[in-house]
Amino acid sequence: MSLIVQKFGGTSVADAEKIKAAARKAIRAQQEGHQVVMVVSAMGKQTDALVTLAAEISDNPPAREMDMLLSTGEQVSVAVMAMAIHELGSEAVSLTGGQIGIKTDSSHTKARIQSIDTERMKRHLDAGKIIIAAGFQGIDDDLNITTLGRGGSDTTAVALAAVLQADACEIYTDVDGVYTTDPRILPDARKMDRVSHDEMLELASLGAGVMHSRSIEFGKKFDVPIHVRNSASFSDEPGTVIGSLPEAMDRAVSGAALTKNEARISIVGVPDRPGSMQLIIANLADVQVAVDMMVQNVGAEGLAEISFTVLESDLETALKAVERSAAELGADSVTHDANVSKVSIVGLGMATQSGVADRMFRALAADEINIQAITTSQIKISALVSREQGLEALRAVHGEFELEKAPSQRTDFGEAPARVPQSNAVDIVSRLQKMEELTIEKVELDDSQARVTIAHVPDKPGIAAAVFEAVAAEEIMVDMIVQGTGHDGQANLSFTVPRDAVAAAVKTTGDVAQRLGCGPVTHDPRIAILSVFGIGIRTHTGVGVRMFNALSQAGINVEMINTSEMRVNVVVDADKGKTGLAALEEAFADVIG
Ligand code: ADP
Ligand code: ASP
Ligand code: MG
Repeated sequence: MSLIVQKFGGTSVADAEKIKAAARKAIRAQQEGHQVVMVVSAMGKQTDALVTLAAEISDNPPAREMDMLLSTGEQVSVAVMAMAIHELGSEAVSLTGGQIGIKTDSSHTKARIQSIDTERMKRHLDAGKIIIAAGFQGIDDDLNITTLGRGGSDTTAVALAAVLQADACEIYTDVDGVYTTDPRILPDARKMDRVSHDEMLELASLGAGVMHSRSIEFGKKFDVPIHVRNSASFSDEPGTVIGSLPEAMDRAVSGAALTKNEARISIVGVPDRPGSMQLIIANLADVQVAVDMMVQNVGAEGLAEISFTVLESDLETALKAVERSAAELGADSVTHDANVSKVSIVGLGMATQSGVADRMFRALAADEINIQAITTSQIKISALVSREQGLEALRAVHGEFELEKAPSQRTDFGEAPARVPQSNAVDIVSRLQKMEELTIEKVELDDSQARVTIAHVPDKPGIAAAVFEAVAAEEIMVDMIVQGTGHDGQANLSFTVPRDAVAAAVKTTGDVAQRLGCGPVTHDPRIAILSVFGIGIRTHTGVGVRMFNALSQAGINVEMINTSEMRVNVVVDADKGKTGLAALEEAFADVIG
């Protein structure tokens, strides 16, 4: 018998009418012959209200008690949803996370799922009941109530779909599907018919709050088809399917996102030797701050400047940890800017098309938007801008790539694939456990690249655009791009190109630098790029720690870094590539799966 998971977000269960409407959808699915598991969020803004209540009582409420408090929101919803279903003449049973047997670790307010017991759910389903599961919560080994982090009901839903081997996982929300960017910020945004897991993972972590990014990790790993749709649609309009393929094959960019509230931290005058980065990252991981947009500029006299961004809400905690690191390292000073936003473009097509970065930078320059930092990965480019220009920056890049227009060449999906034959539930559960802990797919060495660096890039719009336009005009494929924010208003801009193109790249870049009055341009004709791939790489702060630990113990200095949801890349000396690879393989041996 087919099984369907339907998740209803806060707005979709905000009042009695909406709860009844959701109940009717579930009953209809059951009447169509499916077994139905509903996952519900707290009603409306109830979770926010509980957070506010806690803040009125304590500046620093114990995390365990926060979870005890916040989990009540979902408990109300499941009970009333079950009542609604009974009222409509069907049978339902409400279950808390603990009753379902969603076991998590004990990291309160951001717990990770370790296992889910399907036996009780199966029994109820076989008895013809609709299961109403409380989203966002679980229990740890000591039976303490835990929560998965804000927005975590999506993760509950997709995880249940995975372990129950559901045929479909429908996410009912207050928009028609996944848009090219948040339609409430940019009314021009277009609903996509499809989006790939990889793109959605990046978009979700870059600010597209429509899905909890960890839910997409489950979707990818267990091949769960996720269908995001509007709960208010009576006609059951199709929404967006998040699956393995992108919407279109001819597009470099699929979506754009804005992370409004970011903060930049820079450590100036860091001794440029193995281990500096490792210490900084380890101290941040200790306080569970995930680091983003990390940039290292090698400056004069063997002193480096390391900058990175964190969510503004993590700034205070991060600063304390960084001050500690700076003191230990004997760095000169720590500066920060709490008023920045990050605009990003995402697209699977980017990995194979050149001339994407320069278009993005040109679009920003055309609107007089200064780029304070740049980082890239295979399928995304992020630029840090002042917060007051954030929205304008989003509009500029969305327009530049014509995301409001439907793609002309849609991916041919052929026949809808039958659900992939599933391994047994025990196997899925064991992989599930491993996944939320950490799985690394592989560690890789790329020794085909060279590095070009322009020093003293002035802090004004248009420089990156000019550089990458000139490089693209030479048809040189740029891989990593990293630009830091100089504390003195001057930055370094580094990028990697294939070794056989480095001479041309240096010449072109030199010409541009001269014209724009920056430079000198230096280069390294041979570098090595070491990459660690996996899922949820960035949110597991432990990955960076292990990686930099291993490299520093092997005496290897990291020259450039970039991170994404799926990988961390570091540039090291070409002669250290093989040693570095071996060190990383050893460091991750237990989690390479
Ligand atoms: P729910 O309560 O149903 O989980 P959320 O508020 O968490 O709903 O997510 C839906 C919201 O996500 C939308 O109202 C929209 O403003 C926002 N959003 C952000 N980025 C996107 C995007 N790319 N596509 C669709 N919605 C988005
Ligand atoms: N109610 C929780 C929140 O508001 C979980 C969720 O809605 O996904 O964050
Ligand atoms: Mg949500």
